Amino acid sequence: MVGKRDQRKILPMNRNLPEISKRQKRLLAELKKCDDELSGQDVHRQLHQSESAMGLATVYRNLQVLVKQGLVRSRHLPTGEVLYAPVERDIHHLTCVDCGETTRLNSCPVKHINLPQKNSKNFELLFHTLEFFGLCQNCIQKNNA
Ligand SMILES: [Zn+2]
Ligand SMILES: [Zn+2]
Repeated sequence: MVGKRDQRKILPMNRNLPEISKRQKRLLAELKKCDDELSGQDVHRQLHQSESAMGLATVYRNLQVLVKQGLVRSRHLPTGEVLYAPVERDIHHLTCVDCGETTRLNSCPVKHINLPQKNSKNFELLFHTLEFFGLCQNCIQKNNA
C-alpha cells in the first residue's frame, strides 16, 4: 500500500511547466479574456458558439484540473456556485448577505501575509481566497426604513 506521503512524492511538481491539454488551454484563455470571474456554466456558454465547444461536465472536469495545476483559482459562493479566474488575479469581494450584491476590493488585504512556518513546510501554496460578508448600503437603509 502506498501511503499518503509517498503518493505526494509521485506527483509531478514541475510548477513552471504544467502540462495542459488543448482543451485546458482553451478554458484558461477564456478565463483570461474575461475581466470578471466565470462559473463553469458561463465558460460553457461562451464556448458554445465557437469551434471549441465542449460539454458542461468536460468544462468542469478540466477547470478542476487547472485548479490542481495551480493555474486557476476557484471560490465557492454561499449559493453553492463556484467561480473561476486565472490564479494570478488576486481579487476579493464584499458580498451582501441580504441581496447578494458583490463589490470588488481595490487591493488584497492579505497579500503579504505568510503562512506560519510550521504549516508552510509541507504545503505548496497555490492561491488563497478571502470573503467578506455583510449588508450593503441599500439593505441597511431598507432594514432601517
Ligand atoms: Zn444588499
Ligand atoms: Zn488576496
